[in-house]
Amino acid sequence: MTPQEIIAKIKEENIRVIDIRYMDFPGTWQHFTVPACEFKESSFEDGFGFDGSSMRAWQNIDNSDMIVVPDPSTVKMDPFFEVPTLAVIGDIHDPITGESYSRDPRNIAKKVERYVKSSGIADTIYVGPEPEFFIFNNVRYASENHAAFYELDSDEGIWNSGRDEMPNTGYKIRHKHGYFPLPPADTYQDMRTEMMLTLEDMGIEMECQHHEVATAGQCEIDLRFASLLEMGDRLAWFKYVLKNVAAKYNQTVTFMPKPLYSDNGTGMHTHLSLWKDGKPLYAGNKYAGLSQEALYAIGGIMKNCKALCAITNPTTNSYKRLVPGFEAPINLAYSSRNRSASIRIPMYSSSPAAKRIEFRTPDPSCNGYLAFSAMTMAMLDGIQNKIDPGDPMDKNIYDLPPEELAEMGSAPASLGEALDALEQDHEFLLKGDVFTKDVIEKWISYKRENEVTPVNSRPHPHEFFLYYDI
Ligand code: GLU
Ligand code: MG
Ligand code: MG
Repeated sequence: MTPQEIIAKIKEENIRVIDIRYMDFPGTWQHFTVPACEFKESSFEDGFGFDGSSMRAWQNIDNSDMIVVPDPSTVKMDPFFEVPTLAVIGDIHDPITGESYSRDPRNIAKKVERYVKSSGIADTIYVGPEPEFFIFNNVRYASENHAAFYELDSDEGIWNSGRDEMPNTGYKIRHKHGYFPLPPADTYQDMRTEMMLTLEDMGIEMECQHHEVATAGQCEIDLRFASLLEMGDRLAWFKYVLKNVAAKYNQTVTFMPKPLYSDNGTGMHTHLSLWKDGKPLYAGNKYAGLSQEALYAIGGIMKNCKALCAITNPTTNSYKRLVPGFEAPINLAYSSRNRSASIRIPMYSSSPAAKRIEFRTPDPSCNGYLAFSAMTMAMLDGIQNKIDPGDPMDKNIYDLPPEELAEMGSAPASLGEALDALEQDHEFLLKGDVFTKDVIEKWISYKRENEVTPVNSRPHPHEFFLYYDI
């Protein structure tokens, strides 16, 4: 829609409020609302002012004014507010120079799309994420229930205590048995369907919804692929819609990667492909029907994987998911079909248009714009420098002897380790001025000061179990 069409729609449909949204640096959606009389055609150029110093990791107090400029291509009716509300996503600009803000995640995603085109390698990046998540009936469950900290004695353990199922109805999903029982064991069908159809009604195409492997409440809803920037916007809507549908059921949704100890964590496997002139670049006659470019792209992800994890798995909790035994990939390997590898080549379809790689390491605690951008820059690095990914790993990695495992690279063991890797290896992100040096430095210092150090310096509940009576 053009700005004129949007203003006409507001008048015709008597829309009285416009909600302006933007993504902050760590990856949480922000908003404020203006009455329709304040929202004009010129707003798409002039934007709206806000205090950039109140945003995490953005401006200093002595230089705080910023503007958010609505992007007309992003308008959607918000599905939750009582008063009909038009929501629009904005880009962050400097009010004096008018320049796009280098720490605006959406700006970074736009720059990757431009860089990919200017590189001559491709003109389109398709991204298809499969976010998993947990539904809990109250936020205190995970922190107060011992299940968050202590291993269970048996499958009949305490997983469902504190939820809606007391007294025991006999229809319990046991831990690691959530893939795919029907109702009445699966009590989330109506909620997931409402989440999926709310998104569909907004023009956000979905592929599938299902319960996931962990105990009752772990679910997955898959988005149909879209181009990179568009998918950044869609993932923001996705998280918002899921949380708000759950709230209607008096439940909460969390995308934290490992809310429960000793059960599967929450990943966001991400399907990636590059296209040029309407043709898929990843289809060819090499291993698993891939092209040479696709193999180099895999090489780029594997080579830069540790640094990449600081952006695709950007929380201290992310590394509690990346441990053996819970279907989360730890070792840097690629394979068709093998789900224990960090990169899988799906073999569901023989169509060249469906040929893609699935990067299984990311989790949904990431900022979608930044994570999809960083994955793309790693793939490009591989293609530009012809990085050989080595041989595929078609065995079950979990069954390999320790010597063979040691030869294989692995994901970082902690956020601290990932940030150290990013500090060493970030040239691939700077190309095309996509991620600036300032963005990388700010990301690392913000994460160290606000997440790594505060988490490491707090006594952990399990330390009381280990050491209280020492
Ligand atoms: N939950 C698993 C993970 O952390 C993935 C399970 C699956 O989708 O097969 O990656
Ligand atoms: Mg899936
Ligand atoms: Mg899954």
